[in-house]
Amino acid sequence: MEKISITFVELKELVNNFFQDKSGITNFNEAEKVRFKYLGRKGLISSLFKKIKEKSPSERALFGKELNFIKSLIKQEIEEKLVEFEKISEKEEKIDITLPGRKFFLGSKHPINIILEEIKDAFYSMGFEVATGPEIETDYYNFEALNMPENHPSRDLQDTLYLDSGGLLRTHTSPVQIRVMEKMKPPVRIIAPGRVFRKDTPDATHSPVFYQVEGLCVDRDVSMADLKGVILSFARHLFGRSAKVRFRPSFFPFTEPSAEYDFSCILCRGKGCSVCKNTGWIEISGAGMVDPEVFKFVGYDPEVFTGFAFGMGVERIAMVKFEIDDIRLFYENDLRFIKQFS
Ligand SMILES: [Zn+2]
Repeated sequence: MEKISITFVELKELVNNFFQDKSGITNFNEAEKVRFKYLGRKGLISSLFKKIKEKSPSERALFGKELNFIKSLIKQEIEEKLVEFEKISEKEEKIDITLPGRKFFLGSKHPINIILEEIKDAFYSMGFEVATGPEIETDYYNFEALNMPENHPSRDLQDTLYLDSGGLLRTHTSPVQIRVMEKMKPPVRIIAPGRVFRKDTPDATHSPVFYQVEGLCVDRDVSMADLKGVILSFARHLFGRSAKVRFRPSFFPFTEPSAEYDFSCILCRGKGCSVCKNTGWIEISGAGMVDPEVFKFVGYDPEVFTGFAFGMGVERIAMVKFEIDDIRLFYENDLRFIKQFS
C-alpha cells in the first residue's frame, strides 16, 4: 500500500485510536470487535464518510482520498490479526483433550549410590571426611608412592589401562591416600570413594569399571586394634548389631602387616549358604597398617605417626546386601532392575 500523509486532525486521531485498539487484541473475538468498531456498517469509517459533505468543496477530495487510504489500511491490519488468531485456534483444536495425561515417573536411587551413601554415613559418624582424587592418575601416585616401584611383582596383579598421554586409569582409590597426606599433616581420617578401572573381561563377578572406597587414618598411637574397631563398627552400621568381622593375614605392598577382612554372612547368619559358599563369611577387602615406606614418600615421620588403611568394593557389598548375583546388572541401566530399589 502506497504511503500517504494524513492532514486532517480527526483522521489522525482515528488512526492513532485504531493502533491503540489493535495493540490490545489478544484473541479472535477481540479482533472481530475492533473490526466491527471501525469497518462495520455503522462503524467509525462509514460515519466519517458521511462527513465528507460537511467539508468545504476544496477539502472534500483530499478528505475522501485520505479516508479511503485509512479504510484499506485498517482492513489489512485487522485481517492479519484475524488470520493469526484463526491459526492459533486451529492448533488448539488439534489438542485431543480426551487423551490420557502424561505420567511423571519419580526417579529412584541406583543401588550403588544407596550403598555409597550408607558407607559415607557410617564413616561420617566415626569422624571421617570424604576425599576425592583424579580418575586419570600418574604412575607415581598409582604405584610408586604406594611402595610399588617399577618391576615390583604386585604391579602384574593389576591389569592397568594405560593412556597414550602417558597417564593411566587408576586401578584403585589408594592414590588418594598419597594426595591427601601430601597436603595434610596428621591427624588424618578420610574415606575416598570413587571409580577404578581394570583390564578385566566382564562376567558375573568382574567389571572393567567398579567402585571402591579407600579409608585412611593416621595419628599418634594408631594401632591394628583401632582398625579392627572401625571395621567392626562399619559392619554393624551396614548389616546390623549381630554382624561379626574376621581378619586373615594377607599381603599388600603399601600396608604392613596386611590383612583381608570378612563380614559374617547376613543371609544365613554364619550357618552357610550359596552366597557365602557355605563358609558363613563374606570376603569384603583388604586392610592393614600403613607401611612406613609410604610415609617416607609424603614426609610423615614413621617414628612419630602410625596409621591404618583399608579398602572395599562397593558392588561386592551391594551384591550381598541386595542379593544380586551378577555385577553387570549395575551397569546395564535396565529400568526394571533399577526400579526395584525405589
Ligand atoms: Zn551365608
